[in-house]
Amino acid sequence: MINILDMDLEELKQWMKSNGESKFRAKQVFDWIYKDICEFENMNNIPQSVRGKLQTYFYIGIPRLIEEYTSKNNDTRKYLFELGDGNLIECVVMKYKHGNSICISTQVGCRMGCKFCASTIGGMIRNISPGEMLAQILKAQQLINERISNVVLMGSGEPFDNFDNVMKFLEIVNSENGLNIGQRHITISTCGIVPKIKEFADFNMQITLAISLHAPSDEIRVKSMPIANKYSIAEIIDVSKYYIDKTNRRITFEYALVKGLNDSKQDAEKLSALLKDMLCHVNLIPVNEIKENELERSSNDDVTEFKRVLEANNIQTTIRREMGLDINAACGQLRRSHIKGEELK
Ligand code: SF4
Repeated sequence: MINILDMDLEELKQWMKSNGESKFRAKQVFDWIYKDICEFENMNNIPQSVRGKLQTYFYIGIPRLIEEYTSKNNDTRKYLFELGDGNLIECVVMKYKHGNSICISTQVGCRMGCKFCASTIGGMIRNISPGEMLAQILKAQQLINERISNVVLMGSGEPFDNFDNVMKFLEIVNSENGLNIGQRHITISTCGIVPKIKEFADFNMQITLAISLHAPSDEIRVKSMPIANKYSIAEIIDVSKYYIDKTNRRITFEYALVKGLNDSKQDAEKLSALLKDMLCHVNLIPVNEIKENELERSSNDDVTEFKRVLEANNIQTTIRREMGLDINAACGQLRRSHIKGEELK
């Protein structure tokens, strides 16, 4: 059986044709699915005979809700979902004034080994299919009973380590026949896989690219991000400029501040020199302390001073609004707690 969410409209049209049905049935099926009707038997403008065939060949792979946590101020919900094969993934829904945003996972686990991240502790189990990415949004919409208008690929997994599936997901999520979420409402976050950033730039999409930089030099970066052994910051800056040239989009550099590692005034000055005159924005993230690592959070004063130095160098800087800290909302923490059978706060 095939997860119908893994198919784009053209593929489903071809399937209809080769199974003796009119191609326009594919559009009808898409209309139902992406309006959150996820049972073939409820698609009442489709003849029973076609519904029967659909049920024989396909399933609609919506994940099972295992756990749900809502932050105290009600602006963040974190879900632990079970995929068809029993693997667990997380996604987070954040309510903003401008609408609902979801952070989805692109892999079960991750093999990138970033020290500050709980998702990578057990390694990478498998890639998530395009349909399983879409299903996180469909399921979350059902749960909150509202539309989701912004998508961030920043949960478990490195999206560019699962490039083809992510590209197909983007096609369907953006399509007016799919979830119809505009490219400018989608953000992809990468730890900096340089050749894939270049390949992505060549698609010339209007998607926001967020690069996890987290250090002003390779010597510091390699201490928390093994990917720094493969690609230097100089290469990341070069490919970022290429992305900006191609797409005319502003890049976001994510920078998790860790006490004593990358949060000094000199670090802020070095970072400013790297990013000078680039169409970019820096998002400072006071790092989440996780049980399995020894990283310590920067003091509020150091965070403020770091921001001040960047802004003095005309670099737009924000400090990430902390949402859901009381429910282990940081990447991978809920799944790990569940696997280890721990009680959450
Ligand atoms: S931060 Fe992202 S790339 Fe790094 S280990 Fe975690 S999920 Fe993977």
